[in-house]
Amino acid sequence: MNTATEVLHRVFGYDTFRPGQQEIIEHVAGGGDALVLMPTGGGKSLCYQIPALVRPGVGVVISPLIALMQDQVDALTALGVRAGFLNSTQDLDQRQLVEAEFLAGELDLLYLAPERLRLESTVRLLKKGDIALFAIDEAHCVSQWGHDFRPDYLALSELRAHWPEVPRIALTATATPATHAEIAERLGLREARHFVAGFDRPNIHYRITAKSEPKRQLLDFLRAEHPGDSGIVYCLSRSSAEKIAAFLVENGIPALPYHAGLDARTRAHHQARFLREDGLVVVATIAFGMGIDKPDVRFVAHLDLPKSVEGYYQETGRAGRDGLPATAWMAYGLQDVVQHRRMALEGDEQHRRRQALHLDAMLALCETVTCRRAMLLDYFGQPDSGPCGNCDTCQSPPESWDGTVPAQKMLSTVLRLARERGQKFGVGQIVDILLGKTTAKVLQHGHDSLTVFGVGTELGNAEWHGVARQLLAQGLLAVEPNYGALVLTEASADVLRGHREVRLRRDPRRAAKPAATPKS
Ligand code: ADP
Ligand code: ZN
Repeated sequence: MNTATEVLHRVFGYDTFRPGQQEIIEHVAGGGDALVLMPTGGGKSLCYQIPALVRPGVGVVISPLIALMQDQVDALTALGVRAGFLNSTQDLDQRQLVEAEFLAGELDLLYLAPERLRLESTVRLLKKGDIALFAIDEAHCVSQWGHDFRPDYLALSELRAHWPEVPRIALTATATPATHAEIAERLGLREARHFVAGFDRPNIHYRITAKSEPKRQLLDFLRAEHPGDSGIVYCLSRSSAEKIAAFLVENGIPALPYHAGLDARTRAHHQARFLREDGLVVVATIAFGMGIDKPDVRFVAHLDLPKSVEGYYQETGRAGRDGLPATAWMAYGLQDVVQHRRMALEGDEQHRRRQALHLDAMLALCETVTCRRAMLLDYFGQPDSGPCGNCDTCQSPPESWDGTVPAQKMLSTVLRLARERGQKFGVGQIVDILLGKTTAKVLQHGHDSLTVFGVGTELGNAEWHGVARQLLAQGLLAVEPNYGALVLTEASADVLRGHREVRLRRDPRRAAKPAATPKS
């Protein structure tokens, strides 16, 4: 069967849905009407393209953007989707060809200019075919009070009368509540489900902090900022979910684990308790939270780095659905980068490339010196939103500093070990060499005789780990899949030769606290 997720992967080549897409797609694919408000660039097209492919028949897309139709159809054709359009730029022959394809059931998607629907002949044509859905793009054009009224759009109110059984989805990025209501009214979509997918969650405070002692940091965070609150702690493995839950309970915080290793009854029981009780913390692997609607989740904490910004956004988005202040807190460190970089080396070429892109975006969010919310919004297609004032980088802006010399020292240590000794080592050994520590392992390998031994005493151990983390994040260092040893990348050479400056983020010593917003 063609499930929505399968079509997303196979036809469009994406691995995850953007915020809001999946719910909308499943609703429309199931035959429901929808009114979708989503920012430009948010991914509205897939919201009707995928249901059109999942449902039998042709998806009919009404769009005023005649000039774009050819491009849209070309792009779909390149993906193997059978698409065509009908508008006034075509001559009779071209139109007849598309009409014949439509009637023969040879199209998945048919784009129509709105004025075509005013023609009796078009309605007759459509009646003879099998229609999967109607998508009304730029739906605000039906609003007489809006900025872009098109009289032809008024005729779209007839669709419901002609095709009462066919689902209709109207989409727009223009979002005033008044226009929204008017669209619903004029298109006969009052019964439709409304989806409003602005991506900003202003009540969520975002914070990403350097990981040193994760359990202790988590406990401090909960005690200082969320005593007695409900929340979710995400970690990657089942065993750490178990351990962290036990650790919280030992420290007087009611907590339950949730992961795929628990039997279904226990999972259902833990989930039910989380929904019902106040002040319970669930320590979960990513399996937790899909379809859970608990409005008063006050915090979401990540003890491990999510694989993608989409995943991070989805998981943190479970906090503060009631609109009251909530916190998205994450502790992230060198080992996260090492582990994810290694995981991103698995699978086939295409999979690896995608994983790497996802990871780079996630790491960029972690290492940014600018507003985290602005970066998230930009990622989801809402650029230029400006600093938010409610994230850690806004509240205590991290300095960035010129880390070129330390980077060169670290890279040349890796280079020397490889060139002079044919050796590769993990971060710990590299840092010990830079700091000039005569540990047993340093002496055993004679690393105290390297010229780089002890050249890095200007930084401390934690700072050197921060340098390594950021070099890995920036792709200036890489890890070996098997042992996690550090190796150079192509880009390392530019740094070593002094052709490239390395900007690094100085991790704030004291973690930022959220703004003094009143707690409920
Ligand atoms: P809108 O119509 O809302 O302005 P589009 O449908 O044109 O947005 O999508 C904007 C961009 O986002 C396109 O380049 C599209 O390919 C991309 N996109 C949409 N959905 C996804 C997804 N799930 N994963 C990755 N990219 C996506
Ligand atoms: Zn901010």
